[in-house]
Amino acid sequence: MELTKWMNLAAKYGQDGLDRGDGGPFGSVIVRNGHVIGKGWNQCFLLSDPTAHAEIQAIRDACKQLQTLELVGGVMYATAEPCPMCLSAIYWAQLDAVYFACSKEISANAGFNDRKIYQQLELPWNARSLNMVQMPNEAATHLMQSWIEKMQGKQHEPTNSGPDHPECA
Ligand SMILES: [Zn+2]
Repeated sequence: MELTKWMNLAAKYGQDGLDRGDGGPFGSVIVRNGHVIGKGWNQCFLLSDPTAHAEIQAIRDACKQLQTLELVGGVMYATAEPCPMCLSAIYWAQLDAVYFACSKEISANAGFNDRKIYQQLELPWNARSLNMVQMPNEAATHLMQSWIEKMQGKQHEPTNSGPDHPECA
């Protein structure tokens, strides 16, 4: 079955990466129209990068290859349920669907526990264990205003040459 084929491929990338010592036991592929457009495996150790999860790496791979910020129509196959960071990236990239194999409970049993992060995200920012402080700043406000004016200017141009995904640009 096609779906099993893609999940097996994701698992192969994960296994190869694990065998090399690149990172944890996770692999991912992104498929669109029957073709793999991105592949990734956990490379946190290799890159000294806590964000180099398999799903993030697959999104980076696909977007770089296709020179785009949007992967509409793409389906991700991940060997484990995405963590909150990867799930957010999946939304930003506008993937159509995610198939995952191991549940987050299985990952937690293997030492990859993201339950605390899920719990934290449900809290208001000022109630989280992370110390967050809102600090209004004129330069920061100006920066945002510059973007808004830039986008308004684009709307008046004859050609529609602005970023097609402004909230990500
Ligand atoms: Zn993740």
